[in-house]
Amino acid sequence: MINLLNLDREGLITFFEELGEKSFRATQIMKWVYQQNVLEFADMTNLSKDLRSRLQTIACLKLPEIQTMQVSQDGTRKWLVKLDSENSIEMVFIPEEGRNTLCISSQAGCALDCTFCATGKQGFNRNLTTAEIIGQLWLAEQIIIADGCVPENFKHAISNVVIMGMGEPLINFDNVIKAINIMLDDFSYGLSRRRITLSTVGIVPALIKLKEQCPVSLAISLHAPNDELRNQLIPINKKYPLADLMKTCRDYAQGNSHVTFEYIMLKGINDSPSHATELAKLLRGILAKINLIPFNPFPGITYECSTTETIDNFRDILIRAGLVTVTRKIRGDDINAACGQLAGKVQNLRIKAD
Ligand code: SAH
Repeated sequence: MINLLNLDREGLITFFEELGEKSFRATQIMKWVYQQNVLEFADMTNLSKDLRSRLQTIACLKLPEIQTMQVSQDGTRKWLVKLDSENSIEMVFIPEEGRNTLCISSQAGCALDCTFCATGKQGFNRNLTTAEIIGQLWLAEQIIIADGCVPENFKHAISNVVIMGMGEPLINFDNVIKAINIMLDDFSYGLSRRRITLSTVGIVPALIKLKEQCPVSLAISLHAPNDELRNQLIPINKKYPLADLMKTCRDYAQGNSHVTFEYIMLKGINDSPSHATELAKLLRGILAKINLIPFNPFPGITYECSTTETIDNFRDILIRAGLVTVTRKIRGDDINAACGQLAGKVQNLRIKAD
């Protein structure tokens, strides 16, 4: 049985052509699934009866399942989403004035082992399929619509998607790109590229491909202004050092609006005024926006978050250097839904990066 949620429009066209059907069946199916929220082939009344029963025997539309939901005092929601008997991931809904953001996961666990991240601490199990990635948006749309949390002027319940949950999206490149293609497709959600943000540590070859194939908004998890410190915090930096990453970001920003750089504030580690000055120098000449992320603790971690005063001081140095800098508001930390706190339930965790 082929799960049609794994196919973007191009994949669906090939699928129907191989069945001897016209290619417009692809867009008909997409409209049923993503715009009408219909998952039963039997209900897809503009497909011939013959095709409907044929699809029932060879194809399915199978979503992951919501297991639990937690709601924060600030309205943030976190869902545990079951992929299979061994793996559940987390996704987070963040309502704000004028936008409803969904933070989705791309892998069950993560192999990168960044020292400050709860997901990395649990290791890696597997990549999510395209169906499991786009399925998160499909499920969130249903729930938010049913709960009446959609402002009147919104085209869809979810106005913005950030691929910033569990996992490194650029290590699951093909499935993530297919899911993004579906999000962008006018026969599906029709989101604009600037409303989809992919957050990555910076897998350089994949970033170059992303720019060519699907240049969505980009957020780079930078967290350190030099290789020595970044190697310690983000081990994969040894493979893709800052010089290469910065060159790639410069190229990415060209023709796009800007690149966001995320910088987690770790007390006594990366938060001194000289780190801020070094960071400003590193980002010179790039159309950049900096997001300072207060470190969110989780059990067993020894790092602490920088003080508010230190964060403000760090921000002011960057602003004086001409960089657009904001401190990210912490959302959903009472339900462990904040950045870096997503853990899900992932088993068989044996694989870690070198
Ligand atoms: N692998 C991708 C996406 C997942 S992490 C990436 O690294 O960008 C999403 C963001 O949360 C990243 O910027 C990450 O560095 C940050 N993060 C991880 N652990 C955190 C923590 N404990 N507190 C605050 N932010 C954290």
